[in-house]
Amino acid sequence: MFLDIGIGLMVSKILIKTMGFYAPTVFIILGVVFSLLPDIDFIFHLLKKKRLNEYNHKHRDYLHYPILYIGGGFILFLFVDVKIAILFAVVSALHFLHDSVGIGWGVKWLYPFSKNSFMFCYKIREKGEGLRRVFPSQLYYSWTEEQVEQKSLLYGDKDWVKNIYLKFSWYAFIEYIGFLIGLGFLFWL
Ligand SMILES: [Zn+2]
Repeated sequence: MFLDIGIGLMVSKILIKTMGFYAPTVFIILGVVFSLLPDIDFIFHLLKKKRLNEYNHKHRDYLHYPILYIGGGFILFLFVDVKIAILFAVVSALHFLHDSVGIGWGVKWLYPFSKNSFMFCYKIREKGEGLRRVFPSQLYYSWTEEQVEQKSLLYGDKDWVKNIYLKFSWYAFIEYIGFLIGLGFLFWL
């Protein structure tokens, strides 16, 4: 999440610098909104007070279809402003890429042509204590819906929010560094 916001800030600032935009503040706000928008359904799950571990892969069921989401959104935003459409496409693509190499259960990059979820650049070791991802190794994994279901039931962490964001790990470190770099872009670029 923090890295997504950082990416939204970086991309909007870079695009303002390279393409210009008549309302930079609006463009930056849109960059941040677009960076989090694919996860909007997650908020509804939280409001419904569903258990996080039960839903942490299903929260990606509604909008995490890059071809449909980016393609459809890009065309819609073209009617507003081509620069906003470009911002939407770049930030959304980076959100899905982030979801594919970090935690979670991959992204259905080829939907509607394939229902498989893809994860990149991780070597996965299935061990007694859980599923460990070791960077870098295998180029990609492709899991069927059944495999995602199985693995999330076996290895899903019900305290994943606490364990990811509130404890020191390389993942948390990269998340916060990305956020800080985004702030750096916001104030100094
Ligand atoms: Zn996401």
